[in-house]
Amino acid sequence: MQRLLELSSRDIPSAREDKRPVIVWFRQDLRLHDNPALLFAAQSGRNVIPVFVHVEQDDENWLLGGAAKFWLHQSLTKLSESLERKYGSKLIIRAGSDTLAGLLDVMMETGASTLCFNRVYEPWKLARDAKIVETLTMNGLTCSSYKAVVLFEPLEVVPDSKEGLMYGFGSVGFFLNACDGKEISDPLPPPEQLRPPRAWPGSLSIGDLRLYVMPCRRNGQVVDWAKGMREFWEFGEEGALKALEEFVRFGCHHFEGRQRFRADRKYTAVISPYVRFGELSPRRIFHEIVVRHRYKAKTFLRRLAWRDLAYWCLWKFPTMADHPLRPQYAHQTWDYDQKQLRAWQRGRTGFPLVDAAMRQLWVTGWMPNYMRHVVAGFLIEHMNMHWVDGEKWFHDTLVDADVAINAYMWQNGGHSGLDQWNFVMHPVFAAKSCDPEGDYVRRWVPELSKLPPEYIHCPWEAPVTLLASSGVALGRNYPHRIIADLEGARTRSLAAVNAVRCGVGKAMVLPDGHERMILPDGR
Ligand SMILES: Cc1cc2nc3c(=O)[nH]c(=O)nc-3n(C[C@H](O)[C@H](O)[C@H](O)COP(=O)(O)OP(=O)(O)OC[C@H]3O[C@@H](n4cnc5c(N)ncnc54)[C@H](O)[C@@H]3O)c2cc1C
Repeated sequence: MQRLLELSSRDIPSAREDKRPVIVWFRQDLRLHDNPALLFAAQSGRNVIPVFVHVEQDDENWLLGGAAKFWLHQSLTKLSESLERKYGSKLIIRAGSDTLAGLLDVMMETGASTLCFNRVYEPWKLARDAKIVETLTMNGLTCSSYKAVVLFEPLEVVPDSKEGLMYGFGSVGFFLNACDGKEISDPLPPPEQLRPPRAWPGSLSIGDLRLYVMPCRRNGQVVDWAKGMREFWEFGEEGALKALEEFVRFGCHHFEGRQRFRADRKYTAVISPYVRFGELSPRRIFHEIVVRHRYKAKTFLRRLAWRDLAYWCLWKFPTMADHPLRPQYAHQTWDYDQKQLRAWQRGRTGFPLVDAAMRQLWVTGWMPNYMRHVVAGFLIEHMNMHWVDGEKWFHDTLVDADVAINAYMWQNGGHSGLDQWNFVMHPVFAAKSCDPEGDYVRRWVPELSKLPPEYIHCPWEAPVTLLASSGVALGRNYPHRIIADLEGARTRSLAAVNAVRCGVGKAMVLPDGHERMILPDGR
């Protein structure tokens, strides 16, 4: 990252210094507002060519999942429309197997001499970007890169300094401590104009990328699997800004208390896919909430810090998405039952709260944070299934799937993370906080909708006559529980954890029960 910063830290040469076009390389910043690469390219007075290069392999082990690809298709479409409508500009789309080659092609075709972009932090993308910048610089071209995707970049904060290690390594407090006193600058406006090049280079259409394909059944019927997502979300930057505005006006004041746990209400921002693909910038969110509306939104702002912390962790521990961060947990024994995993994935576990959340995910590509904890806890602590199975399913089905955040959270749930969860959500009792009247379950599990609140989260306890009058036939139109003895299941998974703590991991357990961790640098 240091090398990338060194080679791409100079300002974009102005039109007086260089008359050739500038390429603005869009990646996880699909917006016009608060986009330094786009704004400074426009302000240079040179002709600007916006480019998106799709190379699937750039995501290495974590190729974009189906839902995220669908989102990307929509985002690119909206960005391309905005560029055209607002500036008479175009988004040039390229694809292939080598991003550098794709960029070089456009630069050679147009005679562009500068590449500018906003930095991203997955270690494999940092390595790719450093290589691109090195090659272009060696060939006499210039590169400028900017911070726009996070509030604090991995190199900007040093949470793991000697003093920092005192603050619960890997927790949000530990990270916030290192950010203390650091300025968050104001978001930037969109450019006033973009000068077009003399001639536009060739471009694929967004459809050519085949990010969103509707399969066809043998009888010719098209499967529109993304219908629910289209109904739930308004795509693009405008949709993102509207969602933020709605949260600031109606949701924000509920967030600081326990109300944010409610799954049956919209008390969280519901903006994560916009943040993931960059229709919204974290600086803009911070500015709207803290500067413009003067909310003391401490809990909400911790969420943004969590995001930066996840990127910091992935940067520090590049294998975080694939391997336990605490190596002793590679020896934990897990169960694997394909049928049960399928039941969890499709919302057929027989536990209404878990099923409602998993069905919401399947239909909309999203579920609230509290529900992510409920379903992750159920998979790990009750089904005793490996956290990687959950991580993979989330990666494929979330529209906000983010390798760093997803891995950080699943590792914590799976005991091997930096900030191991010390709580377990009970699939029935958790409803007290998140769905007290059962409305969330009614919405996503309609076959139970006629049950009263006292039984809707535990239909197996309902009198047979009530089940019959509510139209519920367990085992027929709603499944029996896949685990009848939750306590027994929990004891089994605890035993698997204890086997690690008393066996290979014994030396890491401290007298107070916490676990030591040895950092890559030996500390
Ligand atoms: C097992 C598990 C997996 C998760 N996987 C992802 C993922 O792949 N992508 C993702 O964006 N979030 C993930 N999260 C975090 C969180 O659940 C979502 O960001 C949140 O639910 C999005 O809803 P919101 O926009 O209403 O969030 P709000 O609570 O309103 O928060 C605002 C924004 O802060 C960020 N944020 C919130 N919570 C977290 C968090 N815990 N860590 C990092 N950033 C956060 C998001 O950008 C979010 O949009 C995961 C959580 C769990 C428990």
